Amino acid sequence: MRGIVFVGDRKLEVREFPDPTPGPGEVVLEMKASGMCGSDLHLYRAPAGAGAKDLGMKEVGPIIAGHEPCGVVAAVGPNVPEVQAQVGMRAMVHHYLGCGVCKHCRSGWSQLCKKVTAIYGISQHGGHAKYLKVPARTLVPLPDELSFEVGAAVSCGTGTAYGALKRIGLSGRETIAIFGQGPVGLSGTQLAKAMGARVIALDVGDERLELAKQMGADITINSKKDDPVQAIMDLTHGEGAELTMDCSGNPDARLAAIRSTRTWGTMGFVGEGNNVIIDVSTDLMRRQLTLVASWTFSTVGQAECARFVADRRIAVEKVFTHRYRLDQAEEAYKLFDTQSTGKGVFLL
Ligand SMILES: [Zn+2]
Ligand SMILES: [Zn+2]
Repeated sequence: MRGIVFVGDRKLEVREFPDPTPGPGEVVLEMKASGMCGSDLHLYRAPAGAGAKDLGMKEVGPIIAGHEPCGVVAAVGPNVPEVQAQVGMRAMVHHYLGCGVCKHCRSGWSQLCKKVTAIYGISQHGGHAKYLKVPARTLVPLPDELSFEVGAAVSCGTGTAYGALKRIGLSGRETIAIFGQGPVGLSGTQLAKAMGARVIALDVGDERLELAKQMGADITINSKKDDPVQAIMDLTHGEGAELTMDCSGNPDARLAAIRSTRTWGTMGFVGEGNNVIIDVSTDLMRRQLTLVASWTFSTVGQAECARFVADRRIAVEKVFTHRYRLDQAEEAYKLFDTQSTGKGVFLL
């Protein structure tokens, strides 16, 4: 089979790999859709091997990229209970592999495991290929109502947004301001609307704000053109939004999110990397602010997000502005690297 490999410094190659066969406890998934996530850009841009190292992982040989895998079980290895996986089962993958027995693994949060052994697409083969071999316990069933590309989105970007909105406790009474309308921010806008909130979407690019409108944003603000804190104050009778969330990872956006949160409100960190300098007294203490950090989701949260999206008939596929074949990998990542588009997905 062929698979996409990031070789460092914004270069990639489509290479030949042997088709995998499942060992004990494993399955081989025939990939149908494999999404492109904002965090793939860190790996794509980094020097060879440095991306995995930044995440504390060791990359073993050339790794097939892609951590939003979704497809159909094609082969089942020995010792896999039928209730866990059968040939033909439609499934997503929770893209982290932990020890399987610690309290984090048992609660479905294998990414928090102290012995986390792999992140698919980062330290071990991921979904940008025809087949992916994974332990059966990392599969999350895909509801029949959902397409494979929607399953791919739920497997990281959309699932991350759903997890964060739950962590900050969004309700339909509230106004939320979401900074950064990349794939996660756009999903946040769409899901927050579906949960009944009033959504203010912010970004520095008009293309992405246009997408945010299509995802249901009530108001969009270009924070390059307008002061975001002032704009949010004007829209909230001078109080600020009950909830804010940063999906950009940009220090200025993080600080603006904190400063546009109302007294007693909650701000959520979702975008990765970078840092932020906060005046703790003025920005936080004097306003009784709560800061929440949210990193992706558990296996249970992933299944719950898929169920929510199916039951509410949310058009998650709108987050995809580009669909590709494997041999278009180069143009796909070149365009995604501009951070002006929606999400891309490889359909296999
Ligand atoms: Zn564990
Ligand atoms: Zn991701």
